[in-house]
Amino acid sequence: TNGVSDAKNLRVKLVLLGDSGVGKSCIVLRFVRGQFDPTSKVTIGASFLSQTIALQDSTTVKFEIWDTAGQERYAALAPLYYRGAAVGVVVYDITSPESFNKAQYWVKELQKHGSPDIVLALVGNKADLHEKREVPVQDGIDYAEKNGMFFIETSAKTADNINQLFEEIAKRIPRPST
Ligand code: GDP
Ligand code: MG
Repeated sequence: TNGVSDAKNLRVKLVLLGDSGVGKSCIVLRFVRGQFDPTSKVTIGASFLSQTIALQDSTTVKFEIWDTAGQERYAALAPLYYRGAAVGVVVYDITSPESFNKAQYWVKELQKHGSPDIVLALVGNKADLHEKREVPVQDGIDYAEKNGMFFIETSAKTADNINQLFEEIAKRIPRPST
């Protein structure tokens, strides 16, 4: 398309937020390239990638993905990336309660300062590390439900639920009226 959304082809700005090290960049790399690089580099500032998926109703959704750096020193830049975003994906690491707390901070930030009709997803990543789990699945489910968010646990390492994450988000994006 020419970069404009219509009823059949949506173009969607998506921002990923969450603590440094939770796997945001690996989730994007898995979704866009089908790869996992265990030595992936720390994101500086933010990086941009896009990926288009086709849904069963023959619509396409082009995700324009802003992958932010989680470090405190970039926190002031976050509004640049979530401003105008149709989708906010907040990621934590199921082995890190600290990252779950940080996720809740980002959810509040998006609720306060994001677009009023933003679609929010809460993602518990590194689900493959079940032996080291410290955040119960139910905690994620409960928090997401209270905040009207979609919830899923993923593994960028094994690819578990990565495509499902983006497909479920795509289904929840309001369609432009024709
Ligand atoms: P970001 O700072 O949130 O972008 O995190 P990265 O994507 O850079 O990942 C941080 C570290 O976690 C890297 O060493 C990855 O290899 C590792 N990692 C990311 N996703 C997973 C996952 O699903 N499972 C496991 N076991 N490790 C992961
Ligand atoms: Mg990163």
